[in-house]
Amino acid sequence: MSALFQNYARRPISIVEGKGTLVYDSEGKRYIDFTSGIAVCALGHAHPAIVKAIQAQSEKLWHISNLFESPGQEKLAATLVKDLPLSYAFFCNSGAEANEAAIKLARKHTGKHHIIVFEQSFHGRTFGAMSATGQDKVRKGFGPLVEHFTTLPFNDVAALEATIDDSVAAIMLEVVQGEGGVNAVTPEFAEAIQAICDQHGILLIVDEVQTGIGRTGTRFAFEQTALKPNIVSMAKGLGGGFPIGGILGTAELFETFNAGTHGTTFGGNPLAVSVAQTVIEHIFNEEFLANVQAKSVYLKQKLAEALPGNKYTVQGMGLMLGVSCGGDDVAPLVTKLEQAGLLVVQAGTKVIRLLPPLTVSEEEIDEAVKILKSVLIG
Ligand SMILES: *Cc1c(COP(=O)(O)O)cnc(C)c1O
Repeated sequence: MSALFQNYARRPISIVEGKGTLVYDSEGKRYIDFTSGIAVCALGHAHPAIVKAIQAQSEKLWHISNLFESPGQEKLAATLVKDLPLSYAFFCNSGAEANEAAIKLARKHTGKHHIIVFEQSFHGRTFGAMSATGQDKVRKGFGPLVEHFTTLPFNDVAALEATIDDSVAAIMLEVVQGEGGVNAVTPEFAEAIQAICDQHGILLIVDEVQTGIGRTGTRFAFEQTALKPNIVSMAKGLGGGFPIGGILGTAELFETFNAGTHGTTFGGNPLAVSVAQTVIEHIFNEEFLANVQAKSVYLKQKLAEALPGNKYTVQGMGLMLGVSCGGDDVAPLVTKLEQAGLLVVQAGTKVIRLLPPLTVSEEEIDEAVKILKSVLIG
């Protein structure tokens, strides 16, 4: 008998140890981890620099609250916005909380409440973030939801243009929908969104909770598109496994989040920001990011060689890739891959999502693709 709520459909193995891309279960079985704890452990498991940062900071100060100045937050914020068209940061603890902050900031700044979101999006499980999420299965049973989110089809310029009016405060999207199926925004849609935002003075919120922090081969995925967000939310990769989230915003938003308007007790505590600082110093580095792009090209090439293109298609960006399996339900395949020693995560019901640590080696990619081939093709 478990004393846990059964709100997760947990897989029947327990991972007890990890190093880099490899993890081991309680029976000592070895797996290649292409989940990274759902795009979280960007530097792999037990990265020595993160271990060191946690050790060092834990001996100094873990938590003191936002009653006091925070040199660690100052430094992390400055590192994150350096050379980006974003000026200020706020730190919280998770992706949903980051999106709540984004929604609150957009409402307060514009004085409006109508926000456009997209089908198959995922923005989190809290009320605002859940209401922004374009998937019925996430919202079912929890109504009434927060009002004034309009959900439009993704990558549909005509539907967007038909819906825009002066009531719209913000448009909110993921550059690559993660939970919704590894669906990337098309260049045409990104251009249309940006043009509409510029023309109507609408704020653009880009949810980079999954795509951010080097996952797609650039610091943030929006950098590879025409999108110029006013607000970027982030979380997953930011702490490399330690819980931390946050938003980045443009200079014009500075006054809107003034003293007393928003906050969180744990957000940006010294332990979390020291870990995130370590992560960012590794990842926001040209050589590191070029390497992520090279690994992405390598993985895509190996997948194309291994899987017949008439049935399997590979989509996504950087090391956030989806293998679409010709309409097959992927749940049984995910189980078989696990039994064969490769951990992956579904995106929707038809796509196998590959989220290796950004530090994955070519040898590990070779081994993972070999397992994929043997399970999918035989
Ligand atoms: C995971 C995710 C969230 C929610 O993050 P939590 O930390 O689970 O609250 C929000 N947006 C996107 C795009 C995500 O992938």
